Amino acid sequence: TRNDWETALRVIEKIEKAGFEAVIVGGAVRDHLLQRKIHDVDVATNALPMEIKKIFNNTVDVGIEHGTVIVLDEGSPIEVTTYRTDGTYTDYRRPEEVTFVRELPKDLERRDFTINAMAYTKDGGIIDLFGGKEDLENRIIRAVGDANSRFREDALRMLRAVRFVAQLGFSIEESTMKAIQKDSDLIEFIAHERIHMELSKMWVADYVYLGIEALVESHLANYLPGNFAEHLDEWKYFYTKKPEVGWAYLCLLNRNEMENIMEYYRYSNKEKYFAKNVLHVYDRLLNRWNEVDYFLNDLAILETAYDFAVWQGKTVPFSREHIAQVKKHLPIQSMDEFALNGHLLMKWTGKRGGPWIKEALDKALYAVLTGQVKNEEEQLKEWFYNEFIHER
Ligand code: ATP
Ligand code: MG
Repeated sequence: TRNDWETALRVIEKIEKAGFEAVIVGGAVRDHLLQRKIHDVDVATNALPMEIKKIFNNTVDVGIEHGTVIVLDEGSPIEVTTYRTDGTYTDYRRPEEVTFVRELPKDLERRDFTINAMAYTKDGGIIDLFGGKEDLENRIIRAVGDANSRFREDALRMLRAVRFVAQLGFSIEESTMKAIQKDSDLIEFIAHERIHMELSKMWVADYVYLGIEALVESHLANYLPGNFAEHLDEWKYFYTKKPEVGWAYLCLLNRNEMENIMEYYRYSNKEKYFAKNVLHVYDRLLNRWNEVDYFLNDLAILETAYDFAVWQGKTVPFSREHIAQVKKHLPIQSMDEFALNGHLLMKWTGKRGGPWIKEALDKALYAVLTGQVKNEEEQLKEWFYNEFIHER
């Protein structure tokens, strides 16, 4: 937030007073220049972690071996990271060990894209060694340095490029795109958890469709489950603020491979549960949707199933607002409120339990929810006798 930005500037001032140099770097500088919402403000410095810890009273070590210390002195927490270069890369993955350096340019040079490789100084100057500002103006994502070498250092960067397309609506610069196309198969070396994180950011981005298009054009889609090329059109109207909606939609588009997709992308239990529920409700919506569906499912699931139908180009005979309205005005809101249960049925009939109980309860619930019978014991008893005893 704007607040974090101000806090970061105060942290920088203190570091400078202690005789070191410090700047804001990375995504925050990019988003500041774009006047977009800023999430986390990262500070980079030539001071070593130990030196930072001496300047401030209240710090937390999060990744001291990576050079990161969180400073709490000024209010909101600010990550302060020592200028560094990445160590040697193996298997197309980012290395675990890093080397601290005293010069900012070396730190900027290791960053992935020109728009992410700028620094902002305390007095408002922009340090831009790779033409990041111009690329921002032209809405272009361009690798820092030789694209193919950078993607061979860390293949995830290719997917990050696509994710930034989805977030910013930019396009990938031609030679950077060619480099991704050439190295796209290297994405198979990347941990699926990291792929999960990138795609989760993509689902909630403002230009998901452009992102999926870039995923296809870059050939990365050839190495990732989900048949993105085949389903491109079905992503056209997709829009959400919740990552689990994206993961559920991916399942909807690839039903016969659903188990594999959930496994490959390392869905969390919550994401699996959400996807399964939404797909179930989606089927009911297109076939035999009724009041019980409103009752049994969360509003989020109902609305998501509704959105899926719309994005899939199905005609749904009511509006999205209608769902919340109906749900709110159901005669009962939870099972606790239901005046009928198996015990009562057994007491009334003197019969033992069995499948008939579930059948009767389901039918009674439907009758209550549709207003055919009041949710009161006496009325339900009368209804039950009419429905189940007299006719047999
Ligand atoms: P956001 O926070 O919106 O997801 P961001 O640009 O801040 O976007 P982060 O993943 O938070 O992205 O990384 C912060 C900065 O670290 C980036 O702006 C970039 O300069 C650098 N960076 C992150 N990941 C890599 C990478 N794989 N290779 C090179 N530089 C990277
Ligand atoms: Mg960030």
